Amino acid sequence: MSVIVLIEHTGGIIKKKNFEAVQYGAQIAQKMGTTVTALVLGSIAEAEMESLGEYGAKKVLHIADGRLDELHARACAAALVAAAKKENSKVIITLHDINGRTIAPRVAVKLNAGLLAGALSYPDTENGFVIKKAVFSGKAFAYVNIISDVKVIMLMPNTFPPNKVEGKAVIEKFDVSFGEKDFGIKVKEVNKVKGEVPLSDAEMIVSGGRGMKGPENWGILEDLAKELGAATACSRPVADSHWRPHHEHVGQTGGTVRPNLYIAVGISGAIQHLAGVNGSKTIVVINKDPEAPFFKAANYGVVGDALEVLPRLTAAVKKFKEQRK
Ligand SMILES: Cc1cc2nc3c(=O)[nH]c(=O)nc-3n(C[C@H](O)[C@H](O)[C@H](O)COP(=O)(O)OP(=O)(O)OC[C@H]3O[C@@H](n4cnc5c(N)ncnc54)[C@H](O)[C@@H]3O)c2cc1C
Repeated sequence: MSVIVLIEHTGGIIKKKNFEAVQYGAQIAQKMGTTVTALVLGSIAEAEMESLGEYGAKKVLHIADGRLDELHARACAAALVAAAKKENSKVIITLHDINGRTIAPRVAVKLNAGLLAGALSYPDTENGFVIKKAVFSGKAFAYVNIISDVKVIMLMPNTFPPNKVEGKAVIEKFDVSFGEKDFGIKVKEVNKVKGEVPLSDAEMIVSGGRGMKGPENWGILEDLAKELGAATACSRPVADSHWRPHHEHVGQTGGTVRPNLYIAVGISGAIQHLAGVNGSKTIVVINKDPEAPFFKAANYGVVGDALEVLPRLTAAVKKFKEQRK
């Protein structure tokens, strides 16, 4: 009986959020007196899979079927169900991201399991199996007791920073016979954003709102992002006005981000925007209106004109970096 964690990789590279999930699973497994198994799908090098051992995985089940290099939610769910049955897993972990959201609910249905989406804590096993999650667009927390025998947990990325441990994972090949319908969706084209830090993986984000006045001013925001190694994002009206591409829009109807640093420039802080960003570890707000609602959610605030503050902040970051060389 092990805990099982579904690993995502992009072209054979496992990103940090998966190490978080493995570490999370390892701690739960330890509490349950068992071990954590990672499930990896598709084409990937052995060395990359072995790195999961450094975060607590004792075993890696690898389904090398090349069709799984693309996201086929039905097939991924079937693979996870088969692996969970093989390992007799009572706890199944995915990330609470776009992939996890398409896979985990299918798994829960197939295994008749309780599903907890957006886990923000380890389970409190003193009083059942209680996990904290955000509700009402992050305005409140709920403590949910999963009472089913088998439990599916979707972990919110960037909740627990991964720490390396001594350990090595044993890789075991695993075959699953998929049904025809499991690959029923044909991916015709994949358009990836190139040359930028992807928003979903960004540790730092510089985000602009209508207070930036127009797309012609975005250069100074990008300068700061570049200096920090940050991704750029925006509020919805900015994307709706075509000042910025839609994939940068964050909030209730856009992407959800949880970076270590979120710098909001000329954004009012409407609840619909906050819903997508209030899981950020540190929020810095730059706004010329001292009464802007965003200041209530901020760790640090600068009252000032974005067009003046941004170049000065970029220069200060540059100077700081040069001094540290
Ligand atoms: C159903 C629904 C869903 C929505 N979903 C989203 C969503 O997902 N994401 C989202 O962002 N919004 C969403 N919205 C819209 C949301 O309610 C706000 O209207 C929007 O977030 C406001 O964007 P903004 O802060 O960029 O613009 P504004 O509200 O116009 O605010 C601009 C801010 O910039 C400041 N400012 C102006 N000039 C300067 C300057 N020179 N320097 C510094 N600061 C300056 C102003 O003081 C102000 O605070 C949604 C709305 C609805 C009804």
